[in-house]
Amino acid sequence: MLLENYAEGKWVSGTSGTSGLRELRDSVTGKVVAKTSSSGLNFATMLDYARSIGGVNLREHGFHDRAYMLKALGQYLMGRKEELYELSYATGATRSDSWIDIEGGIMTLFAVSSKARREMPDGPKENHNVFVDGGLETLSRGGTFMGQHIALPLQGAAIHINAYNFPVWGALEKFGPAFIAGVPAIIKPASDGSYLTEAMVRMMVESGILPVGAVQLICGSTGDLLNHVTCQDVISFTGSASTAQMLRSKPNIIENSVRFIAEQDSLNGCVLGLDAAPSTPEFDLFIKEIASEISVKAGQKCTAIRRAMVPHKFMDAVVGALGARLDKINIGNPRDKATRMGALAGIGQRADVLDKLNILSAENPIVIGNADRFANDDGAYLEPIVMRCDNPLEKTNVHSVEAFGPVSTLMGYAETDEAITLLQKGGGSLVASVFSYDADFTRDLIMGASAFHGRMLISDRDSAGESTGHGSPLPNLVHGGPGRAGGGEEMGGVRGVMHYMQRTAIQGSPSVIANITGEWIPGAKSRKVKTHPFRRIYKDLHIGDQLQTKSRKVTLKDIELFANSTGDTFYAHMDAHAAKANPFFEDRVAHGYLLLSWAAGLFVSPAPGPVLANTGLNNLAFMTPVYAGDEIKVQLTVRRKKRRTADYGEVGWDVEITNQKDEICARYELLTMVAFEDV
Ligand code: NAP
Repeated sequence: MLLENYAEGKWVSGTSGTSGLRELRDSVTGKVVAKTSSSGLNFATMLDYARSIGGVNLREHGFHDRAYMLKALGQYLMGRKEELYELSYATGATRSDSWIDIEGGIMTLFAVSSKARREMPDGPKENHNVFVDGGLETLSRGGTFMGQHIALPLQGAAIHINAYNFPVWGALEKFGPAFIAGVPAIIKPASDGSYLTEAMVRMMVESGILPVGAVQLICGSTGDLLNHVTCQDVISFTGSASTAQMLRSKPNIIENSVRFIAEQDSLNGCVLGLDAAPSTPEFDLFIKEIASEISVKAGQKCTAIRRAMVPHKFMDAVVGALGARLDKINIGNPRDKATRMGALAGIGQRADVLDKLNILSAENPIVIGNADRFANDDGAYLEPIVMRCDNPLEKTNVHSVEAFGPVSTLMGYAETDEAITLLQKGGGSLVASVFSYDADFTRDLIMGASAFHGRMLISDRDSAGESTGHGSPLPNLVHGGPGRAGGGEEMGGVRGVMHYMQRTAIQGSPSVIANITGEWIPGAKSRKVKTHPFRRIYKDLHIGDQLQTKSRKVTLKDIELFANSTGDTFYAHMDAHAAKANPFFEDRVAHGYLLLSWAAGLFVSPAPGPVLANTGLNNLAFMTPVYAGDEIKVQLTVRRKKRRTADYGEVGWDVEITNQKDEICARYELLTMVAFEDV
């Protein structure tokens, strides 16, 4: 099978070029399963196509539209997952390894889609690609000059260069955030296993869900692509530190300050607590986790545990228990149901792991596993190898050489500080985990080592039943880490989307800012409405629509009635003498909660209608006390809107309560669900 590239909206096969077609082999049988080449592609025009067709088409839609498309795409891919599972066996992956890659990858689409719908705005068409980042800053005394950070999609392409270990997940976890941001992707999978990515991208195209130009695919070399990138493009790389360094130091990338995100080698650690003696639940969890991390995907996971720290006093017990557990793992053809651990991605990868193992085992002896067991097999098998290092502070390679396969080293330590130093010696990792039931020990470890990690998992008997484990971040949490593992980039959730957007501070009058963000702010123009806004369906509510209520006189009787019926007889409401002694009040003051209830009484339109429910309020501030004799009134303004389901959306209302002197007594954002159709 000759793999095809998807360039400028067409499937094209590469020519044999100068270096010929590259053969991709089944990791189990060693037979050629596909050939690939990207020779003949015009990389400069692919970039132009992404920018001028893909980006423009994507940004015709807003964040929420794209989030719904992404969800639909995830559902479509899920419906065709078995085709991917079938192909995935050739990568050496067992069905459960492939689950992480295929369904795990698809689930990142659902996760980013749902986070985008919850956390990103759904403004009117003119503003639907503006992300309002942080609060409004008042920059002048009179409130006519304000500042607001916003983020807008970059107008370039997202170039995704991925590692071989997760051909589907690796592509989708990057595609989702770029797509939400409104930036088209050019996916370049590692050549090994790229037949799986090619099949998945074919499905993405066949789904018909994506706007034209949203995705392109390069199977093979990227040619001169990186010579044509500009400051509007983003390169997101996953792979080895050496390739990352080589790519990010290309002159064009440096000269144009091209955004370059790298997720690279990671010498992830885990620590068995000083309290976690054999037979404690934490000891058992530790053994189980190391065994799982070393065997799942044959240890070819970016998060796999490479360095496990064990109190000296428990070292022999750990070697014994781990050896017994690893011994039970059935290694072989992933197509066989009984197989628990499949092959590495290829003979080449195994040779690379064995080279690294030679370096590591010259420093520390192998205590579990035989590296030669499958030496003569056609399949790229390798049994789990564990080394023992009793004096890790005196060693160097164990802290810097990554064997990207089923290889780990147990390192002895005596005191908490030593464990912290050892974790830090990883030079910055994606993840570390701690197995202990001593909360002070785990706190000290987090204090000492979290600055070196993207994620730290604390595992104990209380969370074990529901914990996702060392290697499985929730997709909406951090991916990436400081230092070696990711250059300080954080990939989780909406922060991941921000990698494809430019953050800009805008300054101007409230009306100008509101017109840009699509969210009403105090001081911006508003529109007095004749029909009560509670009588309008979702689409007929416009940002800035405003209702002014009549006034209500506040009496002492009301305050007392509220106090006695609720039981809130706090002295400031009930005792004039005590209230006056309080630096905040001049007399008995109305309850803040009473004020909210009065406000509702003033602005609601009680008959059944499109407003379905009040779901909460944000940013409540009581600013001026309200006393008996005051007269309060409310200004209710449509601040922002967000679709929530097929039937209703959320409307955020700015509520401002003022007194007879027009002083603001309280301000908050009220959240309601409003139907699309009248009910
Ligand atoms: P790699 O050899 O560095 O390759 C990574 C990617 O870079 C592949 O797509 C590769 O394509 C491409 N590439 C290589 N040379 C290139 C060039 N001159 N121009 C453009 N692209 C180029 O890494 P790998 O062997 O695939 O993956 C294993 C490594 O990835 C391990 O070190 C592992 O730690 C790391 N990894 C890290 C994470 C993380 O999140 N931190 C996750 C997974 C893996 P070709 O295959 O076509 O050469």
